[in-house]
Amino acid sequence: MPHELDCRQDNSAECYAGTVRFPNLRNAACALILFCILPAHAATWTIRTQPVLLLNGAPVLFQVKAPAKLESLTGVWLGHQLTFSYDSATKTWFTLAGVSLETGPGKYTLELTGKRAGTETPLMFSRTFRVARAKYPKIKVELTVEKKFTEPTPEQLQQIEESKKIKQDYFSRVTPDREWAGGFTAPADAPISDVFGSQRIFNGVAQSPHQGLDFGVPTGTPVTAMNGGTVLLARPMYFEGNLVVLDHGQGLLTLYLHLSEFKVKEGDVVKRGEVIGLSGGTGRATGPHLHVAVRWQGTYLDPARLIQLPLP
Ligand SMILES: [Zn+2]
Repeated sequence: MPHELDCRQDNSAECYAGTVRFPNLRNAACALILFCILPAHAATWTIRTQPVLLLNGAPVLFQVKAPAKLESLTGVWLGHQLTFSYDSATKTWFTLAGVSLETGPGKYTLELTGKRAGTETPLMFSRTFRVARAKYPKIKVELTVEKKFTEPTPEQLQQIEESKKIKQDYFSRVTPDREWAGGFTAPADAPISDVFGSQRIFNGVAQSPHQGLDFGVPTGTPVTAMNGGTVLLARPMYFEGNLVVLDHGQGLLTLYLHLSEFKVKEGDVVKRGEVIGLSGGTGRATGPHLHVAVRWQGTYLDPARLIQLPLP
């Protein structure tokens, strides 16, 4: 939607201040007409996204101003259910969502449903957003790992299956309330050793694109929570090694892999920046490093883009 429409939709004080600054009588008359016809009837929805350009594999913050007072706001985006939080300071509803890596470029619709007090009739609105293709590196990373990760024995296959079941079970437990607040921070003060989306080859076998962000850290480096949440998992897993998963609510999880030591246990409530474990090289790792992943309602998103996102 062109930017010039935002002003009218906003009904903000800034907008009106801008409208009355017309130099001549004819424009002043136009401004007067605008004043008379707009406020009561043209009150409509304003939706902003952060970042402005939506990309596959990236998180997105939806910020919505509704034309009337709402009790709650929900939405549907790319088949996902969204629950919005209300920021009374800015009178804005917001939620964190994402676009999967597999989503092709094109136009996609966000459907909104607002509940009002004293009426069963919801306030509905929909708007289309364009998703562009993000540029992810096509560097082929040739890696060598132990054979048990690429050619597992029947016994190891059973262990893999058990790990998979635990993840499926825990990952499906969505906490309805938002537990994160403000921006997400890097889990380690270290350089990035591999980015999200890169193509990798283990022992000559092509794997799915890298679904996380790697920090080049030696074993024993403190790993911190990227935001507030509850410890969903803190246990050894086949590929992930010692794994901590934080539940930030509304289907948003952060995962910390290959740890050498746990500093939290399942059920603990953690704050952003709190140490949750020490880095290591457990599981399918070619050496000590920290792999972090961001999972939103079953979809992996680029942690680097989440860290860059300014959030309320
Ligand atoms: Zn990784």
